[in-house]
Amino acid sequence: MADPTSDLEPLFAAADEGVALDGLVLERAADGTYALETPTADHSALAEDELRSALESVPALVSNWRYWDAIGGEGTARRAFLRWCERAPLADATTANRTLEDDPLEVPERYDALDEGIVREWGQLRITARLVDGGEGERRYELRHVDDADRAREELEPCEDPRDARELSTDDGDGRYRPLKTAPTLRSGWIFSELSGRALVDAVEFFYPATIANWHRELRGELDVDHWLETAERQTGIYDVIDELPREAVGWMAEACCVDSQCLRRREWQYDEDDDLEPPGGDGPFPCREPCSLVVAAARKWAILESEEERTYELELTTSELNQLAELIDAVADGRTGEIREADVNDGANRYRARYLRAKRFDENGGLEATERERN
Ligand code: SF4
Repeated sequence: MADPTSDLEPLFAAADEGVALDGLVLERAADGTYALETPTADHSALAEDELRSALESVPALVSNWRYWDAIGGEGTARRAFLRWCERAPLADATTANRTLEDDPLEVPERYDALDEGIVREWGQLRITARLVDGGEGERRYELRHVDDADRAREELEPCEDPRDARELSTDDGDGRYRPLKTAPTLRSGWIFSELSGRALVDAVEFFYPATIANWHRELRGELDVDHWLETAERQTGIYDVIDELPREAVGWMAEACCVDSQCLRRREWQYDEDDDLEPPGGDGPFPCREPCSLVVAAARKWAILESEEERTYELELTTSELNQLAELIDAVADGRTGEIREADVNDGANRYRARYLRAKRFDENGGLEATERERN
């Protein structure tokens, strides 16, 4: 590492206002002398040359200050996120936030860990923070898909411009459009090897828009959550009907759309402020503060479907055929149909099994042969 104490003028200048970061506390007194506090020593009334030699014994604290001074943006989401990436203490955490469950690292152990690379996961993104070899505390960030954790860099498609993330996140691995950016369908096979802090934040925001800002709001205890009822009641036009969706159906909808297998945002909105929905909200680091447009659009369909009256039908099926209907619904709901081999006729959702059932049980109108029964 280059000598981080070779140019101390910026640090001396900052001492006029007072420096307090990660164990380095420095102040200039009215008489021009300095007070320096580090985790291992306290000094007061230091002349500038004495201060210089005292700082030479704590180069990591100096280079750490230098890096975060260059990052700037005190109190911003960008700075907090970059500090989270390297497990630095988060000054603006005002709540017992789940992202703080792992212990923050102080500078000496953090520097050791940064030499190896500190790994964080943000949805399906794997971020590795490292110190630049021979730098003065500068960090670089590697970004890749979590599924590519063990792949060699050379095997992955190299990317440099954070805006590349926009294209990478548009379609899934099968080339299908991803309407929900936080669905766990991000394609793998790419790598950003050497991002600056700013470029890392930009890339993450292209992959997962607004996740850093909402995470930061939550961290500060300022996440404003819009629950289902207030969101539904303020809809107009074709979405005006969604507030008619029954309470129970809103729970089914959250289970269908918002659980971790479908969306990596942690759902914080509930049916109403004092009325929690039953499905789990999820475990991801970034919160969802209100029903998204995809859920609102789907809710319109369900509101219309739920307005239909229930009827009783009689249809003839063998027990295996009844079980097969359940298997078919499961396979579609879990997005598993593409994985079922044509030769695997033991699977009820096998294409030939489905075609056989259709040939046997559908009428000439293309529906299940069923008779409506009078209800008592
Ligand atoms: S409403 Fe549900 S599906 Fe939409 S972003 Fe939030 S958690 Fe995800």
